[in-house]
Amino acid sequence: MRTKLLMAAALLATASHAHAANPLRDAIAKDMPSLIEIYRDLHANPELSFEEVKTAAKLAAEAKRLGFQVTEGVGKTGVVAVLKNGAGPTVMIRADMDGLPVIEQTGLPYASKVRGVSKSGTETGIMHACGHDTHMTAWVSTARQLVANKDKWSGTLVMILQPAEEIGAGAKAMLDDGLYTRFPKPDYAIAFHDAAQFPAGTIGYQSGWALANVDSVDIKVKGVGGHGAYPHTTKDPIVLASRIVTALQTLVSREVDPQDAAVVTVGSFHAGAKHNIISDEATLLLTVRSYSDETRKLLLDGIRRIAKGEAIAAGVPEDRMPVVSVNEAEFTPATFNTSPLTERVASLFKKQFGEQRVIETKPVMGGEDFSRFYLADKANVQSMIFWVGGVPQAEMEAAAKSGKPLPSLHSPYWVPDAEKVIATASEALTLAAMDLMKK
Ligand SMILES: [Zn+2]
Ligand SMILES: [Zn+2]
Repeated sequence: MRTKLLMAAALLATASHAHAANPLRDAIAKDMPSLIEIYRDLHANPELSFEEVKTAAKLAAEAKRLGFQVTEGVGKTGVVAVLKNGAGPTVMIRADMDGLPVIEQTGLPYASKVRGVSKSGTETGIMHACGHDTHMTAWVSTARQLVANKDKWSGTLVMILQPAEEIGAGAKAMLDDGLYTRFPKPDYAIAFHDAAQFPAGTIGYQSGWALANVDSVDIKVKGVGGHGAYPHTTKDPIVLASRIVTALQTLVSREVDPQDAAVVTVGSFHAGAKHNIISDEATLLLTVRSYSDETRKLLLDGIRRIAKGEAIAAGVPEDRMPVVSVNEAEFTPATFNTSPLTERVASLFKKQFGEQRVIETKPVMGGEDFSRFYLADKANVQSMIFWVGGVPQAEMEAAAKSGKPLPSLHSPYWVPDAEKVIATASEALTLAAMDLMKK
């Protein structure tokens, strides 16, 4: 730990040396002990989706102290903090608040020991394994810096804390609860996510599609059960479901345009109870990913067609065709970064952080319900989400040498270099907001 801190300090020193006068960076660095205290408290006390009660209360209090007009309970546990500062555009900055049902294994002195009950009813540990604690701390830091620099910008700042990102429901809940009608609607919506594949302090961005459509699909494959020794008297749902799994692989390889990205993953296959019984049902759980509406439709229609087609080929009776259900409540639409905003902000970042620290990255097949803030009013809202790398430099190098993969987001071992993520993200968010609301 100590060497890590010394190294981080040395890197920070080099960084500030490279860019001579940088009052914003200096102000954030000066505030870092207080920010790290907030971070460690959030990290040690994670709360699950839509249960972010204490988290929301702590941060709402901080925003009130800073002079924001604060409304709590927006979309169950969400918080909206508004600061009107003269004429000009409205900029919305979002952080998400929820932790995950993961038992933390980092061994950090401030590791979470919190336990709870997950949505599926199992008792579990809870951990900020996605780094939403860094998002919230950077949100506080950004609010502080924008208040301190109030004389340099003019417009309306809307800072929101979103619940339940991990279950893809929080953004929708806030919008359904009047985020764009009870509060100033943003011209620009901005957010960042920490990243487990980039070195700490690096910024990644992309114009256009950034994250994918995420669909959860259940397939109930019905058969006709019986004795394992007499298969000719049955319709084996395990053999049928296996064929469906295999045939599904051709959707991406044979039906989607090779230039278009798509994923069909069968993440769960459950059937049967005993060696010598042919069950009468098998259940498949799929995650289906795409960018465009057209590809999404092609995949979902294809899944229904393949399931039914394979059942017919297996001779399953008409009244026992597979049941394919797409879970619309859990759907997360693809995230789109509008290019005028993205290009403007990226060039600003390059000027501030240098070309090496700001890299254009490829879109990913993960999902983010930040997408909904743009989709709720595509004609009037521009939006951008960017990545801030969190992997400590030393670990990045060690992994490159050993070839051992680094922990990903959602891993019980994920430890971002919080200081660097918070410093970089809040400098970037503050800078972007001040530029968009320039006097
Ligand atoms: Zn996550
Ligand atoms: Zn996340």
